[in-house]
Amino acid sequence: MSAFISTDSTSTNPTLAVLGFKHQLVYHLHLWAFIAVAPLVVVQWQHHHFLLSGMLILFCANALAVIVLLRFRSTYFLKGRLFPLLAVACAAYSTAINGHVGLYWAYPAASALFFLLPLREAIASNTIFVTVMAVVSFMKFPEADFWRITFSLGLTCLFSMIFAWLVGKLQMELTRLATTDPLTGCLNRSQLADILNGQIQMRERYGRVSSMVLLDLDYFKLINDQWGHLAGDKVLKEMALRLRKRIRESDQIFRIGGEEFMIVLPETNQHEGNLLAHQLLTSISARPFLEDIKVTASASIAEVSKGETWSVWLNRADQALYDAKSRGRNQVVSATNQAAGDQNTDTSLTPVAG
Ligand code: GH3
Ligand code: MG
Ligand code: MG
Repeated sequence: MSAFISTDSTSTNPTLAVLGFKHQLVYHLHLWAFIAVAPLVVVQWQHHHFLLSGMLILFCANALAVIVLLRFRSTYFLKGRLFPLLAVACAAYSTAINGHVGLYWAYPAASALFFLLPLREAIASNTIFVTVMAVVSFMKFPEADFWRITFSLGLTCLFSMIFAWLVGKLQMELTRLATTDPLTGCLNRSQLADILNGQIQMRERYGRVSSMVLLDLDYFKLINDQWGHLAGDKVLKEMALRLRKRIRESDQIFRIGGEEFMIVLPETNQHEGNLLAHQLLTSISARPFLEDIKVTASASIAEVSKGETWSVWLNRADQALYDAKSRGRNQVVSATNQAAGDQNTDTSLTPVAG
């Protein structure tokens, strides 16, 4: 029933896109920090500041490790924790021994923390950083400079924090918009492959069963024709509400086609899923929509089998839904549990019956 579903999730998954963006940000911050700081190793060495020079070597070595691992392994060396620690220690120590020359580095270090650490950790680290810098400035500079430094560094942190906080919110909102269907609020297909693969892994590693329910409204085209597209939209909205009312918090509901929904049921076997599917159909047919539009739906239920891919799992459910339609609609059909090898295992594009 569902149309062609691409099995290539990396290009369409918004969560992966955000992760890729974060990795790029971290990569560039470390790259430019390395380019800026590497010459200082020599400069400080020439000034016989061997401890500072050693700390800067550590900073550069960490930056290189992050750059190389991100580039070639896509892993984030120590989750970037060393950068803030070393940047703060170097800036504070350099200010203590070099005065203003070291102080200038505190500003980029403070703002970089907001892009490298989670917001709470960045706030905590920068509070400590500003306090340390305030103590160093108090000892090193005249009182008027101490106040200027403390307030200007504090303001830099505040502006960076507001910016990082808003970018984080924007990113969450964009991810939400990209992963949900605006009409019904259900998930769209963007994360379908990842979520089904997650259930398959639970089956393979821990023997935990999951099931999926496919549900397609019967003769929905006629409802549109008779009551209008707008009424059809309202029916779909109410449909999502009725489905959501019946399922658990841990279940996930997708709108995978115009009037076709998928519900992923973790920790649910075929029998339990079958009962739920019947309840869902009853909740649809028992009461008319928008007061007088009678709607029924057909559904299928498929428990994940050992060794099958998500596209094979979906194909089995889809075939059972097709059977429910051809047997007269308004009913649930359980998918047959065939061996994975018997099924269509094409992983590029999976045409499903319909
Ligand atoms: P069947 O019982 O075989 O499923 O018949 P059907 O009419 O439900 O199925 P069919 O695939 O022939 O038609 C689906 C209809 O769903 C056609 C399309 O206009 C309607 N539809 C798809 N998306 C939307 C939408 O977002 N809003 C509205 N109002 N209608 C939609
Ligand atoms: Mg239909
Ligand atoms: Mg359909």
